[in-house]
Amino acid sequence: MLYRLKSAGFQAYIVGGGVRDLLLNIIPKDFDIVTDARPNQVKDLFTNCRLIGRRFRLAHVHFGRDIIEVATFRGADSDEGTQELHHSGMIKRDNTYGTLEEDIWRRDITINALYYNIADFSIIDAVGGMDDIKNKIIRVIGEPKLRYREDPVRMLRVVRLAAKLNFTIEKNSLAPIKKMAPILADISHARLFDEMYKLFHTGAALKTFHLLYQRHLFHVLFPQTAAMMEKNSQIKSFIECACRNTDARVLHNKKVTPAFLLAIFLWHVYKDKSLELSDEMPKAQASNIAASQVISTQIKSTAIPKILVMAIRDIWHLQFRLTQPASPKTFELLDHPRFRAAYDFLLLRAEIDSKYQEKAAWWTRLQAVDPVTQTQMLTDEVKKNHKSRMKKRPKKTL
Ligand code: ATP
Ligand code: MG
Repeated sequence: MLYRLKSAGFQAYIVGGGVRDLLLNIIPKDFDIVTDARPNQVKDLFTNCRLIGRRFRLAHVHFGRDIIEVATFRGADSDEGTQELHHSGMIKRDNTYGTLEEDIWRRDITINALYYNIADFSIIDAVGGMDDIKNKIIRVIGEPKLRYREDPVRMLRVVRLAAKLNFTIEKNSLAPIKKMAPILADISHARLFDEMYKLFHTGAALKTFHLLYQRHLFHVLFPQTAAMMEKNSQIKSFIECACRNTDARVLHNKKVTPAFLLAIFLWHVYKDKSLELSDEMPKAQASNIAASQVISTQIKSTAIPKILVMAIRDIWHLQFRLTQPASPKTFELLDHPRFRAAYDFLLLRAEIDSKYQEKAAWWTRLQAVDPVTQTQMLTDEVKKNHKSRMKKRPKKTL
């Protein structure tokens, strides 16, 4: 793609995560190309190209399932204050094209502003990105406060990359975050959901969580959870366990669904609410209403796609069924599409609360044995429960 753009007379560079990760010996997730060709000119060069984006037109060039993003240099207007700004200082319209020099200053952090130039195989570094790579530093380009106000998501990107790369956030880039965190609430909830996904599912969830929590960004993403965490220290350990678990899954290329961590983050809020409501209504109804209330409050902060809402509710509901005394219906749980997630969830609960250890171990054993032993285990358990229920039942007296 770079050569085709070049032979058509355009400049073309790889920029961003692709260059950064290669310099750090990490396999890049994707490559971003930047050029002086306008989106329509890019489209004319590649038949497999689609133009996307309202805020800023981008060309997506498709190669089977892979997409390479081609952006035209962005202009520097926003930095000069001539761009249309939201009342909070955020950029509303961002569609001015510029030069390479202008594009550099529009990037978020120095290590993301390295341009690999195929014209002479050099790297263009106008902002000290190479030094920051060497010294493992995340540094915002320009005045951090201004750059965060223009686009609050940059605060999350700073944290995400510091965690992913194990870099230190430079003092001036770190200092304003805690105070400015609340302006993140102005960002579209759908974009915040996407960012949340990237924050917790790229292999550094634990470190990310700590940074987000310390800098009060977690409080903006999950206000209900953060409020409860101040009163209940167990919630933090629970989230830490889950983050560690998610990181291990990512490391071993196992599937991860954002429903799992969302269910974890909101679990104690949901449990408290169910308990509170169960004073006034049957347990099952209380837990249903609690789930709806907790989720509808959460979507005022980050969007949650409907399919994930269903998964979260299932995971919560199954907790109740997995910890109840076994009945003939218990066997059906093994075939429930969300059984595996709910079982993993129970294991984490058992890690922080010994009360659930026996039950979790029973489910672990049940899955490890052959079907005949499974049936036997279940029958034994049902009998045992039946006996203990009979013992507890008071004798009828006249
Ligand atoms: P990765 O793809 O590994 O998550 P990345 O840095 O490539 O990290 P992208 O979202 O692919 O992240 O963005 C590509 C590049 O676009 C970034 O490296 C950065 O230069 C620029 N960029 C992305 N988001 C912003 C932003 N909010 N403000 C300024 N520049 C940004
Ligand atoms: Mg990228």
